[in-house]
Amino acid sequence: MAVETTVLVVGGGATGVGVARDLALRGVDVVLVNRGRLGGGTSGRSHGLLHSGARYAESDPERAAACLAENRVLRDIAGGCVRDTGGLFVSLADDDPDYFAEKRAACEAAAIPVESVDGETARERVPDLADDAERALRVPDAVVYPSRLVAATVADACDHGATVYTHAPVEALHVSEGRVAGATVGGDLDAQVAADYVVNATGPWAGSLAAMAGVDVPMRLTRGVLVSVDYDRLGPVLNRCRVPDDGDVVVPHERETVLGTTSVPVEDPDDYETDQSEIDRTVEECAAMLPAVRGAEAVRTWWGVRPGYAPEADRGGRAVPGEFALLDHAGDGVDNFASIVGGDLTTHRLTAAAAADLVCDYLGVAADCRTDERPLAAADDPDRLDELVAEFGAVNPADVDVVH
Ligand SMILES: Cc1cc2nc3c(=O)[nH]c(=O)nc-3n(C[C@H](O)[C@H](O)[C@H](O)COP(=O)(O)OP(=O)(O)OC[C@H]3O[C@@H](n4cnc5c(N)ncnc54)[C@H](O)[C@@H]3O)c2cc1C
Repeated sequence: MAVETTVLVVGGGATGVGVARDLALRGVDVVLVNRGRLGGGTSGRSHGLLHSGARYAESDPERAAACLAENRVLRDIAGGCVRDTGGLFVSLADDDPDYFAEKRAACEAAAIPVESVDGETARERVPDLADDAERALRVPDAVVYPSRLVAATVADACDHGATVYTHAPVEALHVSEGRVAGATVGGDLDAQVAADYVVNATGPWAGSLAAMAGVDVPMRLTRGVLVSVDYDRLGPVLNRCRVPDDGDVVVPHERETVLGTTSVPVEDPDDYETDQSEIDRTVEECAAMLPAVRGAEAVRTWWGVRPGYAPEADRGGRAVPGEFALLDHAGDGVDNFASIVGGDLTTHRLTAAAAADLVCDYLGVAADCRTDERPLAAADDPDRLDELVAEFGAVNPADVDVVH
């Protein structure tokens, strides 16, 4: 079989479906292929925290601003993919009060709505909060359900002419005269795909896909564990108010609560060891904020791999997982090929818009990005959203308890 398209997007996580939707809304013909289930990579294995930016306010104000802006956009366009829980940054007796003050000041500087409350007021909001919670910052964190987000995004892309193939891995890219002339796609599609432009949105697999075109995309991958426990009494998202560390985020779902996470380097996103001590540490650290989760039954445990980009100058240094890099491989001698790596679930739409801008510049398409204006498919109908998740096969561990 042969398929022809203007743009081939490889990868059906949040970033790839975001690129497909953006291009489709600009009237560009686009085909997306994904190796397995939609969202089955990192997106569907994430924590589901819709960042307000507070987590990064003092360390990376630019990233905090992007999170705040996208938090607001997704509340507007993503309806039932988002649950407006609010968030608390909780400072325990042993936590540094100076860090609390610094976090608050940085939130104010970044225009993130923030309010300090004492321990007693925080416990009114979260009755099971630790006795030694001394103070907290209220911020507009929320919960995002990745399976719904990916399905609703891809459905809108398809409504605007995109074509999506799942269980369709790219097995080879064919480069000729400085261009990707086509891709061999296996699995259920089993076809040669010819495209004018190819976008590599394969998350932690970006290095492997780029290598198929003879391009080096150095990655620094880290795994993280998440544990969902049977506990339904948490209102807001909880973040520990300390320098980011293991086990400092607790995310409420409807009947469960998700505890996470860790950050340990891995080489291969398909083949990495896991460690029971990471699970135990995550539960213990989260229980320091919310002791009731210590005895709650663990319903599901899963691992995800962050798609960190590690440019030459940064190899050997500290991974900065939330940053994204848009790599135009024209500079590597392959004209019609770009990779997009890194970023957060929260900022995926922005990341996708940057990639779509690059593609449109190359193609000479003048249309502007509209993805921040129109609602995702079925955004305000949770039942229909869950039907879309089923239709597109986007059921993933991050929110399988919510997406019935
Ligand atoms: C433990 C953990 C917790 C996180 N929590 C949060 C959070 O709470 N909030 C937040 O904002 N961010 C969070 N993140 C970050 C966020 O989840 C990721 O940055 C984001 O989901 C990356 O999306 P992506 O589309 O780039 O990659 P992915 O979701 O991994 O998508 C890549 C896709 O490419 C496909 N693919 C790979 N190779 C091929 C091929 N050869 N052919 C076809 N398809 C291919 C894969 O199957 C996959 O579906 C977390 C990350 C981790 C690891």
